Amino acid sequence: MNTKNISTTYIFDEEKICDDCRSLLKKDRFRPVHKNLILNNVINNKMITGQEDEFYYSCRVCSTTWRHETGKGGFGWQLTKIDS
Ligand SMILES: [Zn+2]
Repeated sequence: MNTKNISTTYIFDEEKICDDCRSLLKKDRFRPVHKNLILNNVINNKMITGQEDEFYYSCRVCSTTWRHETGKGGFGWQLTKIDS
């Protein structure tokens, strides 16, 4: 499922999300990590298309959690869920 036409549901707390996280919304894989993100997990996927790694972050300011797909077929920055 590497089509770019998938609509992603962005779930976040409009009141709570910090400016740094807001700046990552809908950004692609080339957008760098912001300073308040903590790396929680890395999943290394070897695909036919090459290395498709996923990096999981949470924000120390607003607790927003992210998945960053950096591979060629990756979707870039995606919200996962918000810890409440
Ligand atoms: Zn944040």
